[in-house]
Amino acid sequence: MTHIVVLGSTNMDLVTYVEKAPQRGETVTGREFRTIPGGKGANQAIAAARAGATVSMIGAVGNDAYGTRLRSTLEDSGVDTDLLRTVEGPSGTAHIVVDDEGGNSIVVISGANGTVDHLVLGDDGLIASADALLLQLEIPLAAVLAGARAARAHGVRTILTPAPAQPLPLELFAATDLLVPNEHEAATLTGRTDPRSAAVALLDEVPEVVVTLGAAGSLYAARGADPLTVPAPQVTAVDSTGAGDTFVGALAVALAEGRPMRSALAWAGAAAALSVQRPGASASMPCRPEIEAQFT
Ligand code: ADP
Repeated sequence: MTHIVVLGSTNMDLVTYVEKAPQRGETVTGREFRTIPGGKGANQAIAAARAGATVSMIGAVGNDAYGTRLRSTLEDSGVDTDLLRTVEGPSGTAHIVVDDEGGNSIVVISGANGTVDHLVLGDDGLIASADALLLQLEIPLAAVLAGARAARAHGVRTILTPAPAQPLPLELFAATDLLVPNEHEAATLTGRTDPRSAAVALLDEVPEVVVTLGAAGSLYAARGADPLTVPAPQVTAVDSTGAGDTFVGALAVALAEGRPMRSALAWAGAAAALSVQRPGASASMPCRPEIEAQFT
């Protein structure tokens, strides 16, 4: 079985549904409140586990009730949490207000995610045994860089989702094998709004790039080859939260199993298309048999 390691964030999403978001100084009565386990790291870990890999999650939760639930949500999906530390203080949270027009505003408090450092990697043994290391930017950059370098040292493929969008240090590009931005992140990194042109520009920094294009699918670029676009299945989307994380988790599994890139992108696209047809982030992620059924 393939083994995927994720080094990243766990967050409890505190979601308030309201007709119209309050202005400064205003109080409004909302309609509903939900706590939904999330964080890009945890979401990618669950996506990869559902897609059929053995998955280990490296990161941190707080010693609060959210931390207990974040850990058990990962474990319920079969994710190994031996290197998910419990630290003194609050877990990471995202405070999300969703209005009736589907607009949202979000405040992220990194909490335990902010404590993740190179020490959490242990002796590198776990990363060394992986087929791929998945990274995002919701934990301190120094930890992301340490993880990417450890993977590189052991010949393990590094797959980086550059979110939240921000400029990246050259050292991190240098330790990345495959960069997977969405269109907005690709534009932030390059200053180019055309995804194809952004992908080609990013090849100056990394050998392979996949730009996700929402309902339009994904675009792959590699040094020395023509970019290739793989369309997404046409579906009715009800909630695209976590689509990118579902896509990356499934893509990592498909590549680790040896699928060629075009087929791996179509497989990941099938997984992500299933997830957008159901509400929630990790709750909407498909299991392997569903992906296989959608793929054929
Ligand atoms: P993010 O969720 O990071 O913003 P995207 O919106 O690009 O990323 O979505 C990631 C992937 O999810 C896309 O490449 C595509 O495969 C799939 N996807 C997203 N929206 C849709 C949709 N409406 N229909 C089908 N697939 C979708």
